[in-house]
Amino acid sequence: MNEMMSASARPLVLVATPEDSPGHALARSLEETGIPLQVTTTFESTLEAMGPGSCHVLLLDSLLPGPAGLDVLGEIRRRLPGGDPSLMVLANPAAGMGLAEALERGAEDGMALPVSAPVAAARLRVHIRMIEAARRLRHTEERFSLLLTGSNEGLWDWDLRTDTVYFSPFWKQLLGLEDHEVGEAPSEWLDRVHPEDRERVQEELQQHLAGRSANFASQHRLQHADGSYRWMVLRGVARREEETGQPLRIAGTLADVTASRLYDALTGLPNRTLMLDRVERAIARARRKSELIFALLVVSLDRFEVVQTQLSEHEIRTVLATAGKRLQQLMRTADTVARLEGPNFAIHLDEIRHVSDARRVAGRVAEALGAPIELGGREFRLSTSIGIALSVTGYERPEDIVRDAFVAMNQARAGGGNRQEMFDQKMQSEVELRMRLEADLRRALERNEFQVFYQPIVSLETWRISGFEALVRWRHPERGLVSPAEFIPVAEETGQIVPIGEWVLRESSRQMKHWQEEHPELDLSISVNLSGRQVAEPDLVDTVARIIDETGLRPGSLKLELTETLLMHHYEGAIQKMHDLRDMGIKLSIDDFGTGYSSLSHLHRFPIDFLKVDRSFVGRVGQDARESEIVRVIVGLGRNLGMKVIAEGVETSEQAGFLRDLECEFGQGYYFARPLDSEAAGALLPHAVRPVESEEGIFLVPRSPAPSA
Ligand code: C2E
Ligand code: MG
Ligand code: MG
Repeated sequence: MNEMMSASARPLVLVATPEDSPGHALARSLEETGIPLQVTTTFESTLEAMGPGSCHVLLLDSLLPGPAGLDVLGEIRRRLPGGDPSLMVLANPAAGMGLAEALERGAEDGMALPVSAPVAAARLRVHIRMIEAARRLRHTEERFSLLLTGSNEGLWDWDLRTDTVYFSPFWKQLLGLEDHEVGEAPSEWLDRVHPEDRERVQEELQQHLAGRSANFASQHRLQHADGSYRWMVLRGVARREEETGQPLRIAGTLADVTASRLYDALTGLPNRTLMLDRVERAIARARRKSELIFALLVVSLDRFEVVQTQLSEHEIRTVLATAGKRLQQLMRTADTVARLEGPNFAIHLDEIRHVSDARRVAGRVAEALGAPIELGGREFRLSTSIGIALSVTGYERPEDIVRDAFVAMNQARAGGGNRQEMFDQKMQSEVELRMRLEADLRRALERNEFQVFYQPIVSLETWRISGFEALVRWRHPERGLVSPAEFIPVAEETGQIVPIGEWVLRESSRQMKHWQEEHPELDLSISVNLSGRQVAEPDLVDTVARIIDETGLRPGSLKLELTETLLMHHYEGAIQKMHDLRDMGIKLSIDDFGTGYSSLSHLHRFPIDFLKVDRSFVGRVGQDARESEIVRVIVGLGRNLGMKVIAEGVETSEQAGFLRDLECEFGQGYYFARPLDSEAAGALLPHAVRPVESEEGIFLVPRSPAPSA
């Protein structure tokens, strides 16, 4: 048929895909469809294989790794100046780059994985036809007419000398227009470009006409006959006068890529953009007909952060795709199931009759997603937190109903997960309260509203104070003392925790230095909590070093507390920083141990000196034989890993005695003392402490001999 199709023993399509990618399996199936192809699995072998004239199409899996830090797509693009071979991308969701982005970055065409072999083969054939077409187009007009059939793309040919454009019937069809409705002026195209894209398109076109780009490729929105805007990719090549390089005509293709911008590549479900669009229409309908109710559900897979640490990439994708499929199966056609970010899905229930319908659907969703998922022969179970918001609240903007459904979902999660919550007035006021808290928190540092309290940590062997944990308090001008349990999570979300935490560290280090100078014989230490955000800060180690320097505190008397959950999240970077801190002589504790989900096998990899047993276990010692047993196991575990153990939340003499018998080294809790301001804490210092219970509460009795065990 032509020189390219007939030429060869040489492969027509070069597929570059790593062995473990679904792209690889696709290549194998494509071979069976009769398309001659060659497969390469590394960046280097791909470069080697794609020498001049070696293949027509390079089908590049976006997951193909290059040498560290190299942008593979960009690099390969750079090596294909003449567009030979033509670059088609296999957008691999695991590579984090969508099809739209790949196209924007210079791939000539593409497909999103997963894609079936027959569809891929058809797309390849069309694409090959298209590139051949585009090449021949430059030579003869008569050959050009052959192409007009069979391709899924509209064609256009702009004669710059006469300033007229030929638009193919399919070009017009893509925009919902009849043949006779489109004339020959360039404005038929340019006037339909979305106003926000217009300037950019003009510029891209000028770039190419002026000879500064090898191909003209532009992704922009064009207005369809129905009034909506569709995302289109317009490609073309200019033909130039040989001597002057002056462009004579420019011709190419038009393809509708709207779908790839509105759907989630992994699950194939509508994405947030498409969902918001549907909700917006529902809001408009409900405004016209007030009896129409619709609901928005946000469905979130519980404990997903933990799931992520336990499953492989592939298994995580399977879990998400399965969840998406199950949701889809549950819904009526008028409803929309969308995938939002991470483990979150949204369901738009259109036109429900009664509020209880939304609850019923939520129940069915929980049940469907709760069914076991098969993962390589194992069964895996999920629970969900579901938030429901209803149109009766009277929403103006789709984003607002999504936000409220999220608030309700977070409420469900805070209640322990595996439940549903309806957004209501109470949550509304909580949202407002929370916004006020955020605003107040932003000013609290500069207004000096924070104060550090100190809770003694007592040696269970000598019954003496070995040090204190610094616990921050906020003196709110109107609300009085605000508990960290309330404001720390907010500060973590807004990032405020970084300066607040730094202040606490400086203040408590300074205070401890002062106490050490007063009581050099006591060998006191200070424990300071670090939040995940602080650990994620690149200059954490420098900040700590600077504060040690400023305050003159001996690094060996500083203990930094990191929660177990934090360690699981910031796994990679955290370990290095922990080693750096350790090298400075600082001690590290794992806080709230037992409440996270760290697998014991990971624990020994963290450089940890102290383990703090969470107070939820300690608090039930004496009441519950099983909890006592857990505490015994944790103390034993800590000892085996060479850590010292601190029991948090010791409230009774019975608990203190039990822990002492286990040879747990330290105790902390109301039995010994509550967190105290610096003056009250300092007053305890010269003394051994022995708690005495009386009608009025617990008192620390100074200077008494240690009780006999
Ligand atoms: P945490 O680090 O586990 O601190 C121990 C918490 O248990 C403190 O709560 C303390 O007052 C409380 N507690 C101590 N003994 C007992 C007891 O016998 N019974 C009971 N029921 N509770 C006891 P607090 O001060 O409200 O702090 C709560 C959490 O806030 C802390 O848990 C810590 O995670 C965080 N936090 C406090 N200050 C800071 C800080 O400066 N920076 C960071 N990042 N987090 C902080
Ligand atoms: Mg702590
Ligand atoms: Mg704790």
